[in-house]
Amino acid sequence: MHPWEAYQGIYLHIPFCQHKCSYCDFISYQGQDGKARTRYVKALIKEIRSCEAPLPVSRGATIYVGGGTPSLLSLEELAAIFSALKEKGYFNAPREVTLEANPGTVDEAYLRGLRALGVDRLSLGIQSLEDSELRLMGRTHTADEARHIIQLSKEAGFTRLSCDLIYGFPTQTAASIEASLTELMALGPSHISIYGLSVEPGTVLSHKLQKGLWTLPTDEETGAMYDLIMDRLVKGGYERYEISNFAKAGDESRHNLIYWHYHPYLAFGAGATGFDGRKRETNQAYLAAYERGEAPEVEILSPAVQREEMIFMNLRTVRGLSLLDYETRFGRSFEHDYGPETEDLIHKGWAKREDGYFRLTPLGMQYGNLAFEAFITTDREPQK
Ligand code: SF4
Repeated sequence: MHPWEAYQGIYLHIPFCQHKCSYCDFISYQGQDGKARTRYVKALIKEIRSCEAPLPVSRGATIYVGGGTPSLLSLEELAAIFSALKEKGYFNAPREVTLEANPGTVDEAYLRGLRALGVDRLSLGIQSLEDSELRLMGRTHTADEARHIIQLSKEAGFTRLSCDLIYGFPTQTAASIEASLTELMALGPSHISIYGLSVEPGTVLSHKLQKGLWTLPTDEETGAMYDLIMDRLVKGGYERYEISNFAKAGDESRHNLIYWHYHPYLAFGAGATGFDGRKRETNQAYLAAYERGEAPEVEILSPAVQREEMIFMNLRTVRGLSLLDYETRFGRSFEHDYGPETEDLIHKGWAKREDGYFRLTPLGMQYGNLAFEAFITTDREPQK
């Protein structure tokens, strides 16, 4: 069976946060009490139990608990969710079980409890190790709490630790990024995700920028941050395997690779999007609508859209697009479909074709979205 003929991963969304960060437009709600959480976990378990998945769930399918701030759930709540997955056969010798956690929300007993539940990888929302930047980002933690959670996680036995950092935020400089990154690498996580800031409408950040109260670093300054990050991470022994993701050898995120390889995954929870290879289903984002069990939005992807998406998701990775997988999955060759586009990117020095893969060069990765545009030709309409 080809990997795109079975679900390879399971995503669970926990949409609660202590406080909304100034740049965040993810589906997460602040200020929810224990009762709201209980209601939500009940609805999530109901969704899992009533799932009629059109494809089999692969043995070894990864589990990813994201948010939001999943570490606001109690161990009992997580255990109940995992039990529901086990009843369905979805928690079946997973190759990886990741939980996102924020500094200041966990203690050592909690982390040890996670290990006992089978969680073997943590993704920590560190973002910066400068207090003034963390305050502007609206994060609830301090740099000391960020250092502490890394230490605690290691003591609790987590060897697979991922830390997120942001660059390009107001007041950040190449020097402040360098300080955060150098210290973070010294703390020794096995994986670092580093995201260029994107300003989303409706956020506090976008409002402050519009009012002229905050200013973004210039393109030149952000470019200098980008160059510095690439240089320091590689020198520090982290290999880039995706546009924004770096790992020590063998410590890539197995779950996120499912998205980038364009393989199917199940998703549960408010606002969560699942994918079976030809259609995408997105659950209701509002808690009340989700808990009432209102139907998800369904988007049927035409074969042309599937081909485009498979290309640009795979091009995010350093490995690139497997030409054999493309041909096997769609019954037509990549060369036949995109000959002129690929030649143009190769000519610009943005891409190359080697060892059966078509991949972006480091220069092409820097231009990311512009390079992907070469493959986007199809309009898409959501279908209910
Ligand atoms: S912790 Fe993450 S999900 Fe929650 S508000 Fe901040 S950025 Fe958004």
